Amino acid sequence: MPTWTRPFKNLLNLFLQSNCPFCQRPTTTEICLDCGRRLQQCHLANPKTLWKQPLPVFAWGKYGGMLKQTLAAIKYDYHPEIARILGQYLGQAWISHPPEDNSQPIVVPIPLHKKKLKERGYNQAQLIAEGFCLVTGLKLKSQGLQRSKQTNAQFSLSVEDRKQNLANAFSLGPGFLHLPKSPILLVDDIYTTGATAKSAIATLENSGIKVRGLAAVAMAGQGK
Ligand SMILES: [Zn+2]
Repeated sequence: MPTWTRPFKNLLNLFLQSNCPFCQRPTTTEICLDCGRRLQQCHLANPKTLWKQPLPVFAWGKYGGMLKQTLAAIKYDYHPEIARILGQYLGQAWISHPPEDNSQPIVVPIPLHKKKLKERGYNQAQLIAEGFCLVTGLKLKSQGLQRSKQTNAQFSLSVEDRKQNLANAFSLGPGFLHLPKSPILLVDDIYTTGATAKSAIATLENSGIKVRGLAAVAMAGQGK
């Protein structure tokens, strides 16, 4: 969609029923019931399979099928509203399967580099975190981290190059001028190798901030 039409589409959506972004059929909800059902098939029965040290990961679904299509639509086809819905799904899963320690972490989305943010128009992790916090009532700190380095696409790199690529990719954001007392829960769209999360965690921990884990909408493979 051209950039100039975006505000008009959002404005129209307030008054009219829109089309499902996947099947194009008219719907009064953001995703039609059929596509919503297909999306729910990706939902993991146990989102806490990877919730263990050294990097506890909480994931709503398995990356693939409809969920893969949905995340691509968010990134490349301007669908911020779907990112918020996925964030709410993630929040509902968090409430149904709460971590044992009962802590109330502060939620920090994995930031995008400002150049990419300008291209895409939004940070999908930020929108997911907003939906997540709306449902869970957890506190959101949008600017806890900032991306100080523009990184290359991870999938094209070897394991060693991935580490190099992400070294010092993040710095502490203006949201943490005063260090938080509660631990942090990072939020991202996809958990793959964990390289991005580890780099973000290293930045926070080097500043004396504790990290509880990562909550992601999708988990790819077994994710190590
Ligand atoms: Zn549909």
